[in-house]
Amino acid sequence: MDQLYSVKMRSARGGPHEAGGKHISGAERIVPAAEAAAVAGQMVLRAQGHERGRPDFINIKIEGLAGEDIRELTSLPVYTIKTGEWREGLRLAERLLELAGIKPEVARQAITCLLEGPAPGGGNMRGAVLMDVNTGCRLEPDPGRGVRAAYMDYHPSVLGELEQRLARYGLNNNHVREALCLASKVASVPSIAAELCWSDDPGYTAGYVAAAGLGYLRLEHLKEKGSERGGRVFFWDPRRGQLEETLRLLEREPCLITRLGGISSKMSFAEFEKKVNQSQSFQIS
Ligand code: AMP
Repeated sequence: MDQLYSVKMRSARGGPHEAGGKHISGAERIVPAAEAAAVAGQMVLRAQGHERGRPDFINIKIEGLAGEDIRELTSLPVYTIKTGEWREGLRLAERLLELAGIKPEVARQAITCLLEGPAPGGGNMRGAVLMDVNTGCRLEPDPGRGVRAAYMDYHPSVLGELEQRLARYGLNNNHVREALCLASKVASVPSIAAELCWSDDPGYTAGYVAAAGLGYLRLEHLKEKGSERGGRVFFWDPRRGQLEETLRLLEREPCLITRLGGISSKMSFAEFEKKVNQSQSFQIS
């Protein structure tokens, strides 16, 4: 690709985020120079049509990435774990986090934190909680903003194939494509043991647990329909990398997904657990 640009959008209502406005939506891409203007325009339209409300603040940031090393990644394999209602989804999320090596009490602490609203005062954050896997302590430097995973996208050469593969399972939508991209980058950071996420969009109840050795494990319901509460937790393992380097990799290192992991059809938690137990590093094609 020719010279690449990072294009980012964040929107809020009631003023900018930093002045206390309510976060409405965010998006980001890495695109060739010729596409930057069009992509920025699409992001403005997307911000204006968001189901969380009409923003009165839209910030577009465009940065050239010339001279930056862009790391190439493989997307995580995608599994959908069958879930009943959202409370069962949360119980399964806890068990999936345990499969990823997170202690049960730390997994529960993360879920409680998102249920209560992780920002000071109980609202949503714009980024993620950074939780120490040993202590459950929160370490994000700014607890209102959280830690933002940034500078990631799919290489155009894999996007068409990804859309086709996701469409076969009814998963080809912005939520899944963007979350898979973010989760693949986050899981590639050596000191991040796992991630937990559910959306703040009131109409989107699905969420996921992701981890490098396991994949992107989608749970169909992690919250009640209509709820605007959502968030992310990145589980940081201090034995695998220092905090400052972890933040640099998450927030500033550009990555492009150039290879795709597989996608599997829906399975129960028991079926997934059996698969994991059968193989230490299983893969699907
Ligand atoms: P979304 O999946 O976009 O609905 O986001 C769900 C939650 O994840 C948001 O409320 C934020 O707390 C968090 N979040 C969104 N984008 C990012 C990001 N780029 N990095 C870290 N956390 C994020």
